[in-house]
Amino acid sequence: MTATVVNGLEVLADEPTEAPMRSRNGSPVLWQQTRTLLLEDGNTVYGCVHCDYTSDNVHSIRPHLNKHRTASAASVAGVDQFGEVTLAEVMRRLADFDEISIEREAWKARATRAERSLSTLRAALRGVAS
Ligand SMILES: [Zn+2]
Repeated sequence: MTATVVNGLEVLADEPTEAPMRSRNGSPVLWQQTRTLLLEDGNTVYGCVHCDYTSDNVHSIRPHLNKHRTASAASVAGVDQFGEVTLAEVMRRLADFDEISIEREAWKARATRAERSLSTLRAALRGVAS
């Protein structure tokens, strides 16, 4: 549980921390496990999402997160040591999604063709019946 009191000061806000780097499309990257804690005296410190560890130095939180690294999280493919999904995994999921979309388009085309031949068949049958 993230600290709610730091050096006797109450934590007023607990938010993810904006990483020093930006993503490729220029949008900010948020570290969900490194919390930015706003204290009642107006100062901010950084905290761990898993425990009450805090530090004035943002760079000491990520190494600290290793302590919470679990065997199960580390063994899940596509999840990095901080338990966050890696870019490679995101790309793989996107590729899967693309394939599903392509497949769906193919099935839609087949269904449309089948429907058309069915109505041709019905028209032909009607012709025979009359
Ligand atoms: Zn921690």
